[in-house]
Amino acid sequence: MASKPKLSTSQIVHPDKDPVLNEENPFDSMMSRFDRAAELLNLEPGIYKILRNPEKQITVSCPILMDNGEVEVFTGHRVLYNTSRGPGKGGIRFDIHVTLEEVTALAAWMTWKSAVVNIPFGGAKGGVVCDPLKMSMGELERLTRRYTVGIIQTLGPDSDVPAPDVNTNERVMAWVMDTYSMHVGHTVTAVVTGKPVEMGGSLGRREATGRGCTIVTTDALEHLGMHVSKSTIAVQGFGNVGSTAAKLLDEAGAKIVGIGDRDAAFHNAKGINVKQAIEYVKQHKSLKGFKGGDEISGADLLTLDVDVLLPAALENVITTKNAHGIRAKVVCEGANGPTSAAADSILDEKGIFVIPDILANAGGVTVSYFEWVQDRGGYFWDEKTVNERLIEIMRRSFADVLALSKSHKVNMRTAAYMLSMSRVASVHRLRGIYS
Ligand code: GLU
Repeated sequence: MASKPKLSTSQIVHPDKDPVLNEENPFDSMMSRFDRAAELLNLEPGIYKILRNPEKQITVSCPILMDNGEVEVFTGHRVLYNTSRGPGKGGIRFDIHVTLEEVTALAAWMTWKSAVVNIPFGGAKGGVVCDPLKMSMGELERLTRRYTVGIIQTLGPDSDVPAPDVNTNERVMAWVMDTYSMHVGHTVTAVVTGKPVEMGGSLGRREATGRGCTIVTTDALEHLGMHVSKSTIAVQGFGNVGSTAAKLLDEAGAKIVGIGDRDAAFHNAKGINVKQAIEYVKQHKSLKGFKGGDEISGADLLTLDVDVLLPAALENVITTKNAHGIRAKVVCEGANGPTSAAADSILDEKGIFVIPDILANAGGVTVSYFEWVQDRGGYFWDEKTVNERLIEIMRRSFADVLALSKSHKVNMRTAAYMLSMSRVASVHRLRGIYS
């Protein structure tokens, strides 16, 4: 583990500052939704047992020569939750609080997410326990390469395809792709997605998750008889997903009245200048000190009187401790697992329309799929085509989940789990049990 980890960034969680953070561990959160959907689907016991277990969990030690000449040993995980529908797909996160249990939950969510939008992937996730903001570029590169070699047996365009996640980016994906390619002896672009465009990345991938959130938020508001151009929005988390969603919703005419990250949150009833906020974060690495609104607490950001609340940071932000205070009409889950399972029923009772994470943030993996297809075909699309196809898939998936939620009289989350689990289950039935 890195020596003397000091946590100092908007991306990193401070459990001591956040008493509600660990209300549930993410795996329990995922599993309780899974169990409810399994019951409603009347899933047969065999399939139920298969789907509630991860296929493969790998933990590796990564010794790294640090810049100060000392050796540190970092722990990394990669979990393939289910690959019945296609290669494992899912990001790699670098975070001091990564655990195998969290990575397993995130890999399961990737399985359901790929199935909700009906793209031919399974679910996987990776995580390395480290504090990337305390590490130099060279240390991060060495760690990325060593971790890649540690999990190289699972990696490959047909077996396991990583992407960026919390605290990783195009740069990190370039190192993963290069390390893998060096080991197999030729360039394999399709082994990761979210790469730089110059080396086989897709146009539109960086904005895809935030764009997907914008598309389903627009559809949800329409479904509720409202219009995005007349809506007010609060965005929690101002990394790639939150800032892109804020920018696109702002461009669609919505008023972004609240934004916040780990270090600071702001309210401006007249509307925050999102472009200025993005520029500010580029320069200062966080919103701390931003002058575009009144500073409020992170807790108050979540309970602002808005039409849409868009949590776009980490797990367990909406819990039984604060769910009663949420005043938004729509919650669009840009993050993975931002609402604890125990808080679901509180939001339901309040009549809040929740667009669940496995649907709301699926724009990222959808354009990852486009990137993988483009890499394998060696033929690249323009950004307009990428965005049009993304809109098509997100809108169709939103409509599919909404229709199921109406026909089964369940909320959107349960409907999304039912839809995705039934798709995965059906493939297992068709493939049979090889034993
Ligand atoms: N990390 C993103 C997610 O949680 C993207 C995964 C991918 O594109 O494979 O959905």
